[in-house]
Amino acid sequence: MAQQEDVFKKIIAHCKEYGFVFPSSELYDGLGAVYDYGQNGVELKNNIKQYWWRSMVQLHENIVGIDAAIFMHPTVWKASGHVDAFNDPLIDNKDSKKRYRADVLIEDQLAKYDEKIQKEVEKARKRFGESFDEQQFCATNARVIEHQQKRDALHERFANALNDNNLEELRQIIVDEEIACPISGTRNWTDVRQFNLMFSTEMGSTAEAASKIYLRPETAQGIFVNYLNVQKTGRMKLPFGIAQIGKAFRNEIVARQFIFRMREFEQMEMQFFVKPGTELDWFKTWKQTRMAWHQALGFGSENYRFHDHDKLAHYANAATDIEFHMPFGFKEVEGIHSRTNFDLSQHAKYSGKKIEYFDPETNESYTPYVIETSIGVDRMFLSVMCHSYEEEQLADGQTRTVLHLPAALAPVKLAVFPLTKKDGLPEKAQEIVDDLRFDFNVKYEEKDQIGKRYRRMDAIGCPFCVTVDQQTLEDNTVTLRDRDSMEQRRVAISELRAIVLEQASITSLLKKQK
Ligand code: ATP
Repeated sequence: MAQQEDVFKKIIAHCKEYGFVFPSSELYDGLGAVYDYGQNGVELKNNIKQYWWRSMVQLHENIVGIDAAIFMHPTVWKASGHVDAFNDPLIDNKDSKKRYRADVLIEDQLAKYDEKIQKEVEKARKRFGESFDEQQFCATNARVIEHQQKRDALHERFANALNDNNLEELRQIIVDEEIACPISGTRNWTDVRQFNLMFSTEMGSTAEAASKIYLRPETAQGIFVNYLNVQKTGRMKLPFGIAQIGKAFRNEIVARQFIFRMREFEQMEMQFFVKPGTELDWFKTWKQTRMAWHQALGFGSENYRFHDHDKLAHYANAATDIEFHMPFGFKEVEGIHSRTNFDLSQHAKYSGKKIEYFDPETNESYTPYVIETSIGVDRMFLSVMCHSYEEEQLADGQTRTVLHLPAALAPVKLAVFPLTKKDGLPEKAQEIVDDLRFDFNVKYEEKDQIGKRYRRMDAIGCPFCVTVDQQTLEDNTVTLRDRDSMEQRRVAISELRAIVLEQASITSLLKKQK
């Protein structure tokens, strides 16, 4: 575990050193849980967004996009339930004065039981070798059974407390499980209180005329309030979807783990409107479709899992998370929710307008049901970074730090180096750059030895490097070096565009979704 934390620290340092992510307002010592993306970070982030947008909008006949404003009429948040119920349960440790989310403390405790079970399994696997039967071991080993029973009991108690919104019980669970504050090590806890996560500000120039408005805590409501506009002007027929990418703001109580939990972040959300009664089938379909999108990145299916919600939000009739194996455990990257007709009905009620769909097949009008897929750009960015980062031990005893980014997401696709700074090699290299930069990001580098230039490109995850040498001037071929295998081969300059597009374009990635 400590080793994993070490790796995570290195990833954060790497993000800063190579222009991916900087703390916000760093000159003034930063601002809690707010970050800026640097010259390489913004490219990676844009590629993630493009991969999502094209997968959703371009590849689906019945999904269109919008870009709604961040500021919305204040009644939107009353109707959606956010003013009254967008709360987290918080608890303070009286000795360290540190604040925690009570539900997260208990979830961490559940994960500890899982770890204990996993440890027993690993020990036994080593002992029994080939003949090890994990299922049988878990069903019969006394220690595993004991851990599992404790875990199940805690899980049930936790789920009940959440569903009943029972804050005292949440506190009692923390006390009974003897959960201690990681900073002070004590169990001196306050009561559990609710805390609203929305940021607010004033709109209007004079104090009397100003009204309180909120910075949106999710992009979804911008889609719901535009349902009628899009359905009518786009002449959309059910089922259809509306996609959106945009900023969201939450005053997170405990903002930890770098860009995993930020106060200003970006979401990619899609609301899929369906006929009532078909929603659970669509829920299943979207679970598969979204998982395929993640797995096309090639990080290995063992690094993903679904986590069904214990507590369904008041509006949902099914909900699951797609979790990714981060250095600090399996964590939510995306939520898929069956939101019934709650949001549209609420907006109809609060606005006094009819929000329905006329079904030409049945001649009926009804309020559509909604399946939502909601993914955080920044969390996705973090999972890509965590999985790609490697300090690789090389055969010659050296190490290199390399980002094995999926080539389609890499900020720079190709770097072009003249072997030396003379004999017309820089000019030839520049010619290649000027030709290819219309199609993708290309970088020209002539400083330092080739080896050092390779290392710099490895560190930002550039999948291909090309070296221009004397032979290039004679036969128009270059050496093409592959980031991951470090193998080099001779190719014609005229082939470069096709090679890079085939392996490093968003199109190539989109085609890998199964
Ligand atoms: P969590 O339980 O981690 O607070 P959530 O269940 O409240 O997340 P949703 O409201 O379902 O999250 O939001 C959808 C997605 O938006 C999440 O899966 C996550 O990727 C992203 N997201 C939510 N809150 C944050 C945040 N504070 N910082 C970065 N990304 C976030």
